[in-house]
Amino acid sequence: MVHAKDDGRNSFNYFTQDMQQNVQRQLFLKKALSAALTSNLLSVAFQPIVSITEQKINKFEALVRWKNEGQWISPEEFIPIAEEFSLIRPLGEFVLNEACRQLKILKSQGFNDIVFNINRSVYEIPLNKSENGQWLMVIEQHGLKPSDICFELTESALAPDKRNNERLFNQLRVAGCTIALDYFGTGYSSLSYLRRIPVDYIKIDKSFIRGMSTNEGDNVLVSTIIVMSKSLGKKVVTEGVETKEQLQQLTELGCDCIQGYYFSKPLPSEHLVNYLTDYKY
Ligand code: C2E
Ligand code: MG
Repeated sequence: MVHAKDDGRNSFNYFTQDMQQNVQRQLFLKKALSAALTSNLLSVAFQPIVSITEQKINKFEALVRWKNEGQWISPEEFIPIAEEFSLIRPLGEFVLNEACRQLKILKSQGFNDIVFNINRSVYEIPLNKSENGQWLMVIEQHGLKPSDICFELTESALAPDKRNNERLFNQLRVAGCTIALDYFGTGYSSLSYLRRIPVDYIKIDKSFIRGMSTNEGDNVLVSTIIVMSKSLGKKVVTEGVETKEQLQQLTELGCDCIQGYYFSKPLPSEHLVNYLTDYKY
């Protein structure tokens, strides 16, 4: 019934074995994820983001990790489940706390100018403005400054009907946090959202980078997004950079920061100090 409604109503869908298996898998993961959250079984990995202009690592993106019964489950599978079954808030709270704890450790070892990027789902944004200070409170509780954290949001969080969101983003920026717009180019990529909401960084989705060497269209899109973002005063981060050729192309196009397997896969927290110490551009 749900699938038929999704198809625009007034239609029908046959029930299939696949649907049954899908629902069973979702329910299984929901139960296991809920238990993992209460038993503190999730972890966070950190992927470096390299500034091309400065040729140094100035950020890491925090990415949640979950090993269930010896098997890694991809965030692409369990984040939508967390969103659907109201587990995304405790999950996000865990990631922010763990990231702040790790950043504090890095700072205590002399890595003072590193920023951590935290992904935030639209479902984590409070509906009520009285709760808008919560993220900042966590950051301050760890003895960090708001400018140590950049929040990565997707375009859906910027939609005009979500009035508290705009208030929250402004509040975060006034406090000193930065905001990045994730997955740019994959949704509506509305220019009016960009004008209205003060984002600092635009992250170009990895699907465009993959196609750059073979598809002239992707090449043109990436270069246009870079020029447009810079004219609007935003910095550009490209994700999914895996080869030297991609790095060279993006450097020539004027991209500010690079993230991808070419520099490093997401790292467990205990590898960060060594990675930063050994790093050469
Ligand atoms: P994202 O925010 O776009 O994060 C980047 C994803 O690209 C990560 O996947 C990362 O491992 C992958 N990646 C990085 N460089 C490369 C590369 O060179 N090649 C390829 N093929 N992939 C690369 P991951 O960790 O599986 O995360 C998937 C998505 O799950 C993230 O996409 C983000 O939207 C979501 N996510 C992860 N952690 C969190 C979290 O703590 N909270 C929320 N709300 N969402 C999260
Ligand atoms: Mg992200």
